[in-house]
Amino acid sequence: MIKINNKIFEKIISDVEIENSISRIANEISSLKVENPIFLCVLNGSFIFASDLVRKINQNIEVSFVKISSYIGTKSTGAVKELIGLKNDIKKRNIIIVEDIVDTGTTLSELFKILKKLEVKSIRTATLLYKPDSYHGKIPIDFIGFSIPSRFVIGYGLDYDEIGRNLPHIYKLKH
Ligand code: 5GP
Repeated sequence: MIKINNKIFEKIISDVEIENSISRIANEISSLKVENPIFLCVLNGSFIFASDLVRKINQNIEVSFVKISSYIGTKSTGAVKELIGLKNDIKKRNIIIVEDIVDTGTTLSELFKILKKLEVKSIRTATLLYKPDSYHGKIPIDFIGFSIPSRFVIGYGLDYDEIGRNLPHIYKLKH
């Protein structure tokens, strides 16, 4: 058990289970032989998953780290999502999104909107964790490490108030 700011977290997925799951996903992705893919890793949470995943892919790939930020646009339409950190020209490229966790799916659908505007050729999504009971998106998720209950989790890149990203296992918040 782990205590952060008076909250108790208990282990639900071990480092060994994570590694096995990532090997499976890497094999699935590699066997598709996607032409010249760019792995688009969504910061901050995906940094550990991304680094473990890409090292198990056995073809030439590009890796790029991005952040999705919201700002208040000049138009009265309100918040506009923006992709920060993209260096590569991704027009007509095959994209593999790398996410730490998909919860409601809002982030993923925003990202899809942005990528489609940039005229990419294809988009596939890999996420380490997926909360099926919270997901209300329409986008199919191609590669899933673990489907988990809709509970707050930390570890392996995921934080609680910026703490816990360095934990090698995944923990859920105890009631
Ligand atoms: P969505 O847009 O799918 O609802 O949420 C995606 C984002 O919410 C993730 O990238 C992550 O930052 C955050 N998030 C959702 N569930 C959890 C969770 O259980 N733990 C942590 N640390 N972040 C989460």
